[in-house]
Order: sequence, then C-alpha cells, then structure tokens
Amino acid sequence: MIIRARVIVTMDGPPIENGAVAVSGNRIIDVGKFPEISARHSGQQLIDLGEQALLPGLINAHCHLDYTCLRGQIPPKKSFADWIRSINAEKAKLSAQDYLASITEGFAEAKRFGTTTIANLTAFPELIPQVASSIRTWWFAELIDVRSPERANELVDRAIGALKQARDSSGGIGLAPHALFTASTNLYRRSEEIAQRENFLLTTHLAESREEMSMFRDGAGPLYDFMRSIGRPMDDCGHRTPLALFVSAIGAPGGRALPAGWIVAHLNELAKRDFELLETSSGKFHVVHSPRSHDYFAHSAFAFETLRDLGFNICLGTDSLASNENLSLFAEMRAFRRGEAAVSPKEALEMVTVNGGRALGRPQILGRIRANYFADLIAIPCRGITDVFEEIVAFDGPVDWMTVNGRI
Ligand SMILES: [Zn+2]
Repeated sequence: MIIRARVIVTMDGPPIENGAVAVSGNRIIDVGKFPEISARHSGQQLIDLGEQALLPGLINAHCHLDYTCLRGQIPPKKSFADWIRSINAEKAKLSAQDYLASITEGFAEAKRFGTTTIANLTAFPELIPQVASSIRTWWFAELIDVRSPERANELVDRAIGALKQARDSSGGIGLAPHALFTASTNLYRRSEEIAQRENFLLTTHLAESREEMSMFRDGAGPLYDFMRSIGRPMDDCGHRTPLALFVSAIGAPGGRALPAGWIVAHLNELAKRDFELLETSSGKFHVVHSPRSHDYFAHSAFAFETLRDLGFNICLGTDSLASNENLSLFAEMRAFRRGEAAVSPKEALEMVTVNGGRALGRPQILGRIRANYFADLIAIPCRGITDVFEEIVAFDGPVDWMTVNGRI
C-alpha cells in the first residue's frame, strides 16, 4: 500500500512535504515525494491521509503496565520509602485478574496516545501468555530477591522460562533486576550472564532518589531504615554511590568500563565522582528519563545536557501510573521541554523514536521512516501554521490512525 500525507516526518532527514510511504507486509519499502512514490509503485492501494503529518510510532522506553489501575491512588509522599510502603499496600489488594485487566487497559491507553512500541516491566511474567498485546512489546521480567537472596539464580531461571513461552514475535524479551536496593549483586550478575548468552535486553532502576543515594553512600536515611527493617543485608551501604556500586557489580573490574547495553531508568542522583566515572569509563548504557514521574517525586534535576554531551543515548518513558497521570508520550515530551527550554521539539521527538529504537537494540529497523524499517506509523493533524515538530509535540488528543507492524 501507499500512504500519502501532507508531510512525512521521517526522523531521517528533513520532513517531506506532499510525501508518501510505500509499505509491504510489516516493512516500509520506500519513502519520498508522493508523485515519485506513486510512479515507482503504481497499481498499489492508496491511502490519502490528507492534512496530516505521518511520523514513526512512538517508543515508550520504560513503563510498568501492571500498575495502570493505580492511577491517582497514591498521592505524592514526603519520602520515597513511604511511597514504596504505599504501593506495596496497594499491590497487596490486587489479584492476578486485576493485573491482567490493568495490563490490558494500559496497552489500549498507550496505543490511543500513539505509542507503537513499549518496553514494559512486569513483576508477573507468568501472566504474559494471557495478554494480547496490540503494540510491539519488549517484555522485561522485573526481579526482586531482597527477601530471598539465596534464590537469585532460581528466580532468573523461572523468569526466563516464562518469558520464552511468551516470546512475542514483533518485539522481544529482557530481564529487569529491579534496583540495587531490592536485587542482590548475584541477581544482577546472573541476569547479565544469561542476557549475554541468549541475547536478551537488560534494564534496571538506578540512582532514582535522594534516599537511594543516602542509603548507599552514607548508610543512612529513610530508605536505609526501611530496607534494614525488612531484613535486607546492609553491608553494601555507607561506601559507594549507586552508580559506583552498579559499575562495580557488573562492569569491568576496577570500574573502567560501564555495563554496556543496559537500559538504565532514572539516573537522577549523581555525585561529582559519578560524573568523573561516566566521563572516564569506556562503554555506554542507555538512559531513560520519565519527566512527569520525576516531577511527581520531586527528584533532583536530571543532568540531561551533561549526559547527552558525554554521548549517552537518552530516551523518554512514562514509568507507571502509580506516579503519573496517563501514558501519553506527547505529554512526556512537553513536560521534558518545560524543564529543558533549550531542547528543540525535534530533539524531544528523537527521544521517543530514534533513541528508543537504539536502546532496544534495533537501530536499523525501529524508530524512523526509511526503507526496511518496521511499518510502525502514526498520523496526527497538521495545519502547517507552525514548525511541524512544534505541532507534533503540542498534539494533545487520541491518535486516530496508525499502523503497527504493517497492520492498520
Ligand atoms: Zn520504573
């Protein structure tokens, strides 16, 4: 089929006015000016979207659809440890059926907001076969062994079994040791080892809150007290920053290389020597920033410019609705730009398209409109009054037309 629109925003060069995209099966096969595309692919079905911008579907690089049903349930707390107590109390009320409904509702909402690919962490990988995902999904099994560190290997192996059964042909799978305060070094190392061997992705939460920093660096604070109260061994606290601990757990010996390829969520809390480590170590991980969840928790400022200038690939994610109001990446781009006025609308859009494709290990097929890329496309109204990227970032409605994996 050929899809024509007022403008094609390819994220692969300047936007193409009166452009068209040719799609065959689940792939884009050609893109250019409409007259050229229609001449090269004559006889194909034509879909004319009229006064719209056609762009790559958006990529949410960090989300927990398990908690879609917790929208508005937890008011912001004074302490991060208090928030964890609150979400644990809410989770205790939920059944497997509630989680299934929550995940299903989340997929529908993400899609309504133009998200065609999602990196979704679930604490219940065994439920995946019961979920019909209508968008491209990377399923990450979220792993916590704080109450049973002796079972780290078993936990990883069981998650792998569930993930493999559920392997979604249009996306992929991965492991997500939750965070340094809930997952043991063994759990991180086992996850890293298996992911390397089987070519899975890896993600984790790192250096999110001030309380995580004070727990690990100073051996003090509300999170330290809370984790100690539930029986966590605390001998890794009082010495190093979260980043230094992460690097020493799974990076190269001596901390000279960062754990490459990991998708690191948050990274809000960085000490001066962390920046030195990021600057001098080889290897790079990907970073996901969740602007509205960041605001909800009132975390320290995210060092966007510094991290970007050091060459880190930075994406956006919504995180879960236990700390956000909806799953719109358009709203996420706007929230991000409110705090980063120097970032252009185009750069914000890159963070939910091209950069997401890189983080998910598919830079050659995901996140742009170019021949051989997945036919994951969305259309939004375009009046052409302002810059097209500005119009896209300002868009605030449901996305009425999209293709996911070539299907409309
Ligand atoms: Zn998260």
